[in-house]
Amino acid sequence: MADSHPGRDGEQAVADAELHAHTRAIRAGRADNQNALAPILWATSTFTAASVSEARDLAVDTHSTRFYTRYGNPTVKAFEDVVADLEGTESARAFASGMGALSAIVLGLCSSGDHIVAQRQLYGGTQLLLQTACPRFGIGVTFVDGTEPGAFADAVIPGRTMLVIAESPANPKLDVVDLAEVGAIAGPMTVVDSTFATPLGQRPAEFGVDLVVHSATKAIAGHNDATIGVVAGSEELLAWLWNYAVLHGAAASPFDALNALRGIRTLAVRLRQQTGTATALAEALGSHPAVEAVYYPGLASHPQHELAARQMDLAGGLVTFDLRGGYEAGKAFMEEVRVVQFATSLGGPESLVTHPASTTHVSLLPDELEALCIGQGTVRFSAGLEHTDDVVADVIGALDRIDGSAASSAR
Ligand SMILES: *Cc1c(COP(=O)(O)O)cnc(C)c1O
Repeated sequence: MADSHPGRDGEQAVADAELHAHTRAIRAGRADNQNALAPILWATSTFTAASVSEARDLAVDTHSTRFYTRYGNPTVKAFEDVVADLEGTESARAFASGMGALSAIVLGLCSSGDHIVAQRQLYGGTQLLLQTACPRFGIGVTFVDGTEPGAFADAVIPGRTMLVIAESPANPKLDVVDLAEVGAIAGPMTVVDSTFATPLGQRPAEFGVDLVVHSATKAIAGHNDATIGVVAGSEELLAWLWNYAVLHGAAASPFDALNALRGIRTLAVRLRQQTGTATALAEALGSHPAVEAVYYPGLASHPQHELAARQMDLAGGLVTFDLRGGYEAGKAFMEEVRVVQFATSLGGPESLVTHPASTTHVSLLPDELEALCIGQGTVRFSAGLEHTDDVVADVIGALDRIDGSAASSAR
């Protein structure tokens, strides 16, 4: 873990490790900040070297932040240091996006003939990467139900399985995966996409998971103004990944890293507010006649509620629900919300809703949708930072209006 306080003695660094994560989110990532309080933007693609031998050393150093920005950059490193600190890992590496991080893991660590065990309920981009790119490179993939005890371990092929990839809570139905079970799998490297939880919601590395991935585009950066991903893990694994990552080329932009670093300073208060709104909405949805099912790990009715309570500090800002009226109800609902906006993302200041069946996944057949755990009336809600009452009233009001029109047309 980086000593984040230049000019202070080792005692201070030890003391920092004992502080709450919310405090460390404010204090970490300052090692190379001279005496500026806010992060410095190093908007440079390259750096001068004093000598040939210095340039040679920098070119092979997996932590060089002053050689060439595709290898590393001081602003990006500051962001990586905060993530490593919060995840409790030795190191972290930022990428140009969450998909940049995931594709670097898959293509950087697997070779032709290798095998991957992955959760069936996954972010759409990750699913497509595993389903379309992996076969082209001769990498086999087995998809499993991440909520079924032992499913990941049972699908591991000894000597062939290189990666086990899980996502928790997962997109879109917020399935919760037992992190201790994933972390205990011996042999392959274990990867958890922890985007929906954020580093302040859960820490998969504490359960033995090898690599923790975030689309920091979402709640970490938190303002819908940066596209950036990050992987946290051991020094050794990240050095291995780094060798491929500099060739893969999905390096994080220093400007996006600056925004992500600024975002992470306020993550604790945002996550608390968003969890509060999501909880209030999930409770209100449960008794609405237009709603068939509500999926929220913070609700006692969630099938893995106890597991979520055990491994998560906060249930987070996402709530998914199925509308009784199916496709038409989902489409009508999207057009009825007024405060909540209609966009694909999550974790930002604006509360957002998506209806995958009529938008992002409109080209899929019903059984293909079902394989991705998406129903015709499935709506995903991401809590923003508006007043909780305004958001809940808006969503419930929109449901009342579509329910009323459904009732009148049935008459
Ligand atoms: C958005 C997202 C990704 C992809 O991240 P990008 O930054 O959009 O590339 C991966 N996993 C999850 C869970 C996501 O929500």
